[in-house]
Amino acid sequence: MEKFDLAIIGAGPAGYEAADFAAKNGLKTVLIEKDNLGGTCLNSGCIPTKTLLHTADLYHDVVAQAEKIGLSYSEFNYDMVKMQQRKEEVLSTLRDGIAKLMKMRKVTVLSGVGKVIDEHKISVTKDDDVQIIEADKILLTTGSVPAIPPIEGAQYAMTSDDLLNSDKAYDNLIIIGGGVIGIEFASLYTALGKKVIIIEALDRILANMDKEFAQSLKMLLTKKGTQIHVKSMVTKLEKQDGEFICYYTEKDKQQMAKADCILMAVGRRAYSKNLFDENFAVEMDRGKIKVNEFYQTSVSNIYAAGDVIGGIQLAHTATAEAINAVCHMLGKDMIYETSLIPSCVYTNPEIASVGMTADEAKKIGKKVISLKYPMGANGKTVLSLQERSFVKVIVEAETNRILGAQMMCARATDMISQFTQSIANKMTLADMKKVIYPHPTFSESIGKVIE
Ligand code: NAD
Repeated sequence: MEKFDLAIIGAGPAGYEAADFAAKNGLKTVLIEKDNLGGTCLNSGCIPTKTLLHTADLYHDVVAQAEKIGLSYSEFNYDMVKMQQRKEEVLSTLRDGIAKLMKMRKVTVLSGVGKVIDEHKISVTKDDDVQIIEADKILLTTGSVPAIPPIEGAQYAMTSDDLLNSDKAYDNLIIIGGGVIGIEFASLYTALGKKVIIIEALDRILANMDKEFAQSLKMLLTKKGTQIHVKSMVTKLEKQDGEFICYYTEKDKQQMAKADCILMAVGRRAYSKNLFDENFAVEMDRGKIKVNEFYQTSVSNIYAAGDVIGGIQLAHTATAEAINAVCHMLGKDMIYETSLIPSCVYTNPEIASVGMTADEAKKIGKKVISLKYPMGANGKTVLSLQERSFVKVIVEAETNRILGAQMMCARATDMISQFTQSIANKMTLADMKKVIYPHPTFSESIGKVIE
């Protein structure tokens, strides 16, 4: 039986990054994966969505702007089959990159289903072959899967995994759930000129983020023909003559909508199915693995990180948690401050947020100043014909320290890291004002908002 210092089950952004970090720090590491390397993020989440969005946004921009910016074409269209082929090329390049990295670090990669048998043993099953390995420490990073609510007819809806692999761009799409997944698919489909209906149970889309994002996005999406129904609960789905029908209640009234595809995007749930032998278990909480502040489960040499422990389900959070867990195994201080997580939504314009919103600050009794810069005054925004956009920064009134930032503008997802740095390093407005921003850039808006 081969022995390792660390065995990791699940090769997503938590698992493979932790394997890389552990191996760099001298641990003999094995990484076990039942599917492709890269997990949800690379195979059915962030990367495929953003690849398709890249084409869709280019398509939309050319159609919407060509005449204004001096371009002309005789025929211009998109091809979903080729978009899917391009997406597969991207995924395969990035998967190869992970495989090469694991090889370079001398991490053993085992293909098969991992199951924890006891505190130190794991079985790895591939077809009829079962291999048992032993490890001093175990890290569980098995991720999450789309949640399917108990709605009658839910089987008629596609999940984001299904729709991402579809060679067909549906003309009419109903999206159940106005969270991040729902909104990114709505952006993709509206950019391709399709009809989209969003049905959201809460009182606004992107309900976990600053309400100004929801207001601005609602305006932009409705301008492109998207219908948004909030405070609306889906009650039943049906299929009739090849068409899908979605019944929902909106302001206590029964409503229905028809489409040729329905996407279920109501959240993701931790994936821990068959992860433990029937005679062995760690403490769980409704499918999620319970961990302490060091990512240890109820069995102290078994750690867990990423979507499988619940909390914020983001690839970069999962990576940070998993590396922090390995730090603890190594007896080192944890590297990452996981209370400060930037979140990004790949709409057009992009949305990014970090730290507190003004509402969150007020809720905990903090006096804040909210500074806002409309990007209509930014040269790069005007010349590249960007849509309605803004940068907002939340400052503590008493100390002038930066507490949060919300951006809805081109390159927001790249620029938000400047605010993450300032918040993590407890910088004040005066500290940020010392920096010169190059002109003309989108990032000048950061200089302007703090001015
Ligand atoms: P979510 O929790 O962000 O949003 C789900 C939405 O569905 C909620 O607003 C909820 O109110 C609504 N809802 C639930 N049941 C409903 C019903 N019966 N009828 C109508 N609406 C209903 O979940 P998601 O959008 O599926 O995303 C899952 C996870 O993946 C999230 O944690 C998200 O942050 C993450 N993710 C992140 C990115 C990114 O960072 N760009 C992209 C995709 C997904």
